[in-house]
Amino acid sequence: MSGVYVHVPFCRSRCSYCDFSVAIGKPDVGYVDLIRQEFALSKWSGVATTLYFGGGTPSSLPIRDLAELVKLFPVEPGAEITAEVNPEDVSREWAKGAVAAGVNRLSLGVQSFDPAILEWFRRGHRPEDVVRAWAILRSVGFSNLSIDLIFGAPCESSTSWGETLERAIALEPEHVSVYALTIESGTPLRGMVLDEEVQAERYRLAERLLSAAGYRWYEISNWAKPGFASRHNLGYWTGGDYLGVGPSAHSRQGAARFWNVNSYPRYRQRILSGLSAMEGVEILDEAELIEEAAYLRLRTSGGTKIKELPRWSWGLLEADGDRAILSLDGRLQLDGIFARLAADGVILGSGAQLPSPNG
Ligand code: SF4
Repeated sequence: MSGVYVHVPFCRSRCSYCDFSVAIGKPDVGYVDLIRQEFALSKWSGVATTLYFGGGTPSSLPIRDLAELVKLFPVEPGAEITAEVNPEDVSREWAKGAVAAGVNRLSLGVQSFDPAILEWFRRGHRPEDVVRAWAILRSVGFSNLSIDLIFGAPCESSTSWGETLERAIALEPEHVSVYALTIESGTPLRGMVLDEEVQAERYRLAERLLSAAGYRWYEISNWAKPGFASRHNLGYWTGGDYLGVGPSAHSRQGAARFWNVNSYPRYRQRILSGLSAMEGVEILDEAELIEEAAYLRLRTSGGTKIKELPRWSWGLLEADGDRAILSLDGRLQLDGIFARLAADGVILGSGAQLPSPNG
């Protein structure tokens, strides 16, 4: 299994919580050529099972550019081709063009249905833009749509979060990603402290409402209707190789991990000079590979292989054969649990078991 990730860094403005690799302003007219050159330099010769356009804002690209990018990468028949989309960018022309280009999955950056929270996030859309975009996307034939939500803004109440979840569920997306707001040092939110108990309550509410509506969690931040787990992201969590292109993109080939320069101007300069955009590379040893695989799999509903369930973990982990799977309380304490499992020496490695979100 191998995926290709294409980073599209352009955004109209920066959201309050965002520290991604972003270039503020209109998309660069030469961006497709930069990606073409980087891909040629990569000497990658596989056929991708999944192709993912993330950002930044892939939907800020003119649709002909997105279609050109799709054509650059050899994909197998039936490949999952996803693009992240901002609601305010969706027009009928863009949506039809995306279908014609072969994009078959969209992830909509909704974040909240509360106008005050959207403003606090400095998002460029309002709730009514989501409803309008959704109607267009369904009408042109998209049958695999995901919604991204963020909980935990200080101005958010439990009622507001519940309403956001209910309005998202009412649209009947095939997939929902739910992220806790995180405070990054390079953003206007730096120094802010969030209440962990409130965050945990918000997560529990998401689990309750989503599972009642027929969604199953398959990774800590992701829920899907049967058959609609993100194949691309499952590749990350279950040890698949992937190639990342564009500024800040990361790649994994066997034991090698490598990543590109973060800043768009530096990325552009390197590619235009005929240089690789790669900034760093790391080769993991056997023990590091096992630890990485176990950690990633523990994030998923497939769990990770262990020798035995330690007594301290009862209530946080559930045993399924030789695998340990996070309980709801466990999902709220992933890093601490993983550190203790590693210290106890009970991790058996990645195992071959894939989570089964599609069942
Ligand atoms: S749209 Fe996404 S990538 Fe762009 S600034 Fe906002 S959060 Fe960051």
